Amino acid sequence: MHDDGRYDDPRVTGAADDPVSRETEYPGWRSAGAPQSPSESDREAPTSGVPWSSARDASDPGGRPVNATPEARVIPIRRNTSASARFEPATASQQAPGVVPDPRSTADPPVASAAPYGPTGTDAAYVSHETPTREEDDPPLAMEAMRAVQILNPSGEVSMPRPERTRVMCVANQKGGVGKTTTTVNLAVALALHGNRVLVVDLDPQGNASTGLNVPHHTGVPDVYECLINSVPLEEVTQAVEGIPNLWCVPATIDLAGAEIELVSVVARESRLARAIDAYPGHFDYVFIDCPPSLGLLTVNALVAAQEVLIPIQCEYYALEGLNQLINNINLVRQHLNPRLAVSTILLTMYDRRTRLADAVEQDVRNHFGDKVLQAVIPRNVRVSEAPSYGQSVMTYDPGSRGATSYFEAAQEIAERGVKEPVSRNA
Ligand code: ADP
Ligand code: MG
Repeated sequence: MHDDGRYDDPRVTGAADDPVSRETEYPGWRSAGAPQSPSESDREAPTSGVPWSSARDASDPGGRPVNATPEARVIPIRRNTSASARFEPATASQQAPGVVPDPRSTADPPVASAAPYGPTGTDAAYVSHETPTREEDDPPLAMEAMRAVQILNPSGEVSMPRPERTRVMCVANQKGGVGKTTTTVNLAVALALHGNRVLVVDLDPQGNASTGLNVPHHTGVPDVYECLINSVPLEEVTQAVEGIPNLWCVPATIDLAGAEIELVSVVARESRLARAIDAYPGHFDYVFIDCPPSLGLLTVNALVAAQEVLIPIQCEYYALEGLNQLINNINLVRQHLNPRLAVSTILLTMYDRRTRLADAVEQDVRNHFGDKVLQAVIPRNVRVSEAPSYGQSVMTYDPGSRGATSYFEAAQEIAERGVKEPVSRNA
C-alpha cells in the first residue's frame, strides 16, 4: 500500500502469488498480438493478483498445456445468452477424430436425433438455418461447443472410446457442495463432445444439473418425479441439451422434493429409477445420475439403477468424514438390491494447491481407494463456478481454463477405463 492509501494494481505488479486461476491463458495469445484473452473483454478485473499471462504454469497439478492452434487462438469465445440457437448436425466429414460411426447410433432416443460431432469442421463448414439476431455477439451454442473441442483437443488425437454397453454411473456423496453436480455436468459434456451418447438424470430436487445444462425445469415441466411416482416413461420427460449434440437430460423440478416421502408408499420404491432406465428404448453410452446430498430413497434409487458409483471428494478437512456411511449404504444396496454395484471412480475436486491440506487429503484418499482414484484432479477454479450462471458447463464457457482441461482429462480417463475394464449391467 502506498502512503496515500492506494494499492498497486495487482495485474501490473503480479504482487500476490495467488495460483488460483481466474482466466484462460492461451499460449502464444499475446505474442500473436491479440490484445485480450478470449473472454477477457467480458470479464471483470481479477480480485487476486495473478497477471493474466502467469495463470498456468508447468507445476499446475490439474492443468494441462493447451496447444491451441492458430485458428483456435483467433476465434473469440463469447458467452451465449441466445435461446434461439440450434445445433446443425455435422456431416460425416466433420466427425470427431477417432469417432467411428456406430450402428448403435441408429437407435436414437426418441427425443432428438444424435449427430456425430465435428470438432474439425471449420466455421465456414458450419451451416445454421437459424441465424441469431446478433450473430456478432451471439454465436450459436453449437459453435461454442465446436470451439471448445478445438481448444481442448486441437490435434484431435484424444478420443473417448464408447463403451460396449451402457455405463450407468451414480454420482453420489451425501455431503453437499463437494462437486457432484459440477462433475456430472462437465463429464457429461466432455464425453458428449467426443462422440459419446450421454443422458444426465437430475435426481436432486434443487435441479442444479438441469440449470447447469440450461434445461427448463420450472414447475409444470415433466420431470423425473413423474417417472418415479407416476410411472411416466423416461423418454417422455427427456430433453435434448441445446448446443451439445449427443447429450440429453431428464430434469428435476421442485416437485421432486416431495418424492422422498411419497416413494415410501409406492410399490418397488427402491427400483423405480432402475426400471425406468432399463425400459428406455434409446441407447446411451453413459447415464449419469446426479444425486441429492442425502442417503434417502432418491439416492437409493440411483444406487439400484447404477452399476458404478462415482464419488467426488472435495480436498478439504472433513472430506473423508461421512464417507464410511456412504460406503456402508453402497454395501447394503449391493447385498440386497443390486449385486452389480461397485464404487468404480473417485474424483478429487476443488483441489487448492496453495494448501498442504489438499495434498494430505489427496494422499489419504489415494492410500485408501487405490487406483479407483482418477489421476486427474479438479482444481478450484473460478471459471468452473461461473459457468452455471450462464447455463453452460465450463467445457464450453471457458475451454482453456484449468477447470475445463482437468474435467476433460477426467472424462478421458473414465472413457479409457470403461473400455479396459468394461462394467456392465448385463455382465
Ligand atoms: P454438490 O452437487 O455436491 O452439492 P456442486 O457441484 O453444486 O456440489 O458444487 C458446489 C459449489 O462449488 C458450486 O457453487 C460450484 O459452482 C462450486 N464448484 C464446484 N467445483 C468447483 C471447482 N472445481 N472450482 C470452483 N468452484 C467449484
Ligand atoms: Mg448438486
